[in-house]
Amino acid sequence: MKPQLILLGAPGSGKGTQAARLVSELGYEHISTGDLLRKEIKSGSELGQRVQGIMDEGKLVDDHTVLELLNSNCDLKSNQYIFDGFPRNHEQAKLLDGEVLKDAKSRAVYFEIDLDMLAARLINRRTCSGCGEIYNLLSKAPAKEGVCDKCGAELTQRKDDNEETVKTRLQVFKDTVEPVLSYYEAEGRLGRIDASAAPDAVFDSLKKQTEL
Ligand code: ADP
Ligand code: ZN
Repeated sequence: MKPQLILLGAPGSGKGTQAARLVSELGYEHISTGDLLRKEIKSGSELGQRVQGIMDEGKLVDDHTVLELLNSNCDLKSNQYIFDGFPRNHEQAKLLDGEVLKDAKSRAVYFEIDLDMLAARLINRRTCSGCGEIYNLLSKAPAKEGVCDKCGAELTQRKDDNEETVKTRLQVFKDTVEPVLSYYEAEGRLGRIDASAAPDAVFDSLKKQTEL
């Protein structure tokens, strides 16, 4: 059985793009706490209403709210997951082990990239409202403006991909990532990949990490 995979990396470092490939080529299930939270907001649930303002500002939702959401949406007995967006701080790393993974084998991979490159990537990111394909106006623009190449649906911009919120998200990342990396490193569970490489090359390094 392959290990449960934990993707660590700044907003815009490419975790979502790579997760989609791991799902289609290696049979993983993708679980993104950001996606789960956005779904709650869209549905208008009490939880969604509670977290909306925090997410719009680019700050972190409280650890236990996210943990609960994560736990009620995954079943480790029958699936191999890619955890994307959790853990985001040292406390969450401990919660993931103690409350979610328990004795499941797991491995963390850090998407290394120069953080100064990321603001531009995020501000230019667009997502297909139909199939979820991710575009970038700088490096992977759709053939026709605003329209998905794959399914023809409209491209949308995430509400938190604006300049001000992006700045906060990157700052929050800088402030919280080191203890998370040290946590996994200390246990020999951390791999690092160069996330500034082209998507195919990043995928190859990622695949190697899943075989360890
Ligand atoms: P990104 O990694 O690009 O910032 P995500 O979709 O993972 O995007 O997260 C979007 C927002 O959702 C975050 O800015 C934060 O407010 C909230 N969020 C997602 N995951 C967590 C988490 N594990 N803990 C706290 N807040 C989270
Ligand atoms: Zn599409």
